[in-house]
Amino acid sequence: MAKTYEGRAVGIDLGTTYSCVGVWQEEHQRVEIIHNDQGNRTTPSSVAFTNNHRLIGDAAKNQAASNPTNTVFDAKRLIGRKYSDSIVKNDMMLWPFKVIPGDDDKPMISVTYKAQEKHLSAEEVSSMVLTKMREIAEAYLEAPVNNAVITVPAYFNDCQRKATKDAGAIAGLNVMRIINEPTAAAIAYGLDKVANCSVERNILIFDLGGGTFDVSLLTIKDKVFEVKATAGNTHLGGEDFDNRMVNYFVQEFRKKNKVDISGNPKALRRLRSACERAKRTLSFAFDTVIELDALHQGIDLYTSLSRAKFEELNMELFRECMDIVESCLFDANMDRSCIHDIVLVGGSSRIPKVQQLLQEFFRGKDLCKSINPDEAVAYGAAVQAALLSEDVKKAPELVLLDVTPLSLGIGLMRDRMNVVIPRNTSIPARRTRAYTAKDNLTSVAIYVYEGERTRSSDNNLLGCFSLDLPRESCQPLLFVCFDLDADGILNVSAWEETNGCRNEIRITNDKERLSAEEIRRLIEEADMYKVEDAEFLEKASAMSALDTYVYNMEKVLRDEDMRSKLCPLEKEEIYLAIDKARNLLDGDIQRRETDWFVNCLKEVKGIFEPIIAKTK
Ligand code: AMP
Repeated sequence: MAKTYEGRAVGIDLGTTYSCVGVWQEEHQRVEIIHNDQGNRTTPSSVAFTNNHRLIGDAAKNQAASNPTNTVFDAKRLIGRKYSDSIVKNDMMLWPFKVIPGDDDKPMISVTYKAQEKHLSAEEVSSMVLTKMREIAEAYLEAPVNNAVITVPAYFNDCQRKATKDAGAIAGLNVMRIINEPTAAAIAYGLDKVANCSVERNILIFDLGGGTFDVSLLTIKDKVFEVKATAGNTHLGGEDFDNRMVNYFVQEFRKKNKVDISGNPKALRRLRSACERAKRTLSFAFDTVIELDALHQGIDLYTSLSRAKFEELNMELFRECMDIVESCLFDANMDRSCIHDIVLVGGSSRIPKVQQLLQEFFRGKDLCKSINPDEAVAYGAAVQAALLSEDVKKAPELVLLDVTPLSLGIGLMRDRMNVVIPRNTSIPARRTRAYTAKDNLTSVAIYVYEGERTRSSDNNLLGCFSLDLPRESCQPLLFVCFDLDADGILNVSAWEETNGCRNEIRITNDKERLSAEEIRRLIEEADMYKVEDAEFLEKASAMSALDTYVYNMEKVLRDEDMRSKLCPLEKEEIYLAIDKARNLLDGDIQRRETDWFVNCLKEVKGIFEPIIAKTK
């Protein structure tokens, strides 16, 4: 039975570096991309911890250079991965924050919050970003938001999808659907341009973001969006280009000054931000400068970078993108000449060299730059959220048929992978396979894998379970059923039918996932953070009110004329009150309750106002 969803629903693009939220506006029949409290339509996927409070989004990113070890970003690069994964090991070398191994080889981010060490999973950090996106939407809609469609890279595997869903649950969101980023972008493009076409159009979505790269090939006809093939790399994007630049300047600095900055997280954080800015500049200029005063041991970094050098540093990665485009076409069994539209999505698709290589690959064909590469994914997610929503009466009509990015199967004898659901199969999908086991076995172990390699051990093991068999059975017949839901998440069941009895078992790869108990605990913790954040905000505004009042008092007292109207006793009383307030504001604010500031303001006002009123 189809689930029903009450209440407002939004689409969230949970990006590696930036996130974006959109909502379908029924009255205008279009998606509104919602700006955050800073007026920005995308929000950094960063969370920071300080001695006093937690910051999310722009506020976290803006203080990253001064608090690098407690400012967490890139949680998407960790989500659903293991600590021992070589990708995680490589990333860790470039992150200023610490990652440690947790239970079951789960990577845990270690930060100091309110002078205490805290360990956070990638799901928790992502849930904080999702909470922020939810709050942004709630502020705009002036209504609670409970439901969301969240996007993931098309090439995300089963563990990464499940972990993203868990992050949504921790944020208190009802995750209506997980959809693929390029498919969401295709909705944004197609809805606007070609949805009503009665002739089939082949669209290639080239989605190069901050941390991931996806290519999807879709056909659109009569409002049916059908993904034919998808390919990608969950670890290829703008941050990899930044990393190459950072490494280059670290070496240049070492050569020139004979000192190594790679062990200095503050310097690395400053250098990384400068490189990202330089990279963006090089998308429209041919060269740029990087100027960082006293980067390390008081030594400045003053240097320049040309577009040609930037391209040389990253050419290998750009070429990898083109190889992935080629493999997507191959999987879809389509020639490059059959593609009608090539749509650019993701901030890194703005890089001129990437555009040039792509255009050359398609023999000079124009690239579609008409949709906003930063917002298209959230736009599509918001359309999908409206389609699934109960309270949207006039959602756009469209049918979405997506595919699974990786083959799913079971491991047979001699390390052979037996594919049950091949990659690029439309989802949801259900396939059952029959296998015969050896005589007289009492149980069989079934290993479930995802991946394209012929040896199962070269693929990613999703889980293992064993099925009991009746004693003395001769060549028992086993059935294994793979059930892939619309989120691309797998459930496996198996049974045997010797002697007509059925013995069923289901796996959902729960070992990798947070348990219901852990999710409950994390939701409670998230609520605790919320309360703490609200308390801090309240304290901060009480402090600010006191500070502003005292500042204005001092300004009034600087006026000669006013001072001459006060007797010495009144002056002394006012200055004593000012001193008291200043001491309170400059002291250990963490140990002071909000009421201290509120009461102090009342007291100061009680002294100042009657005296000033008398002088008028
Ligand atoms: P997204 O994940 O789609 O938000 O993309 C973010 C990535 O796009 C980051 O790595 C940005 O540095 C990169 N980016 C954004 N604008 C530009 C630009 N003009 N030139 C090159 N890279 C960009």
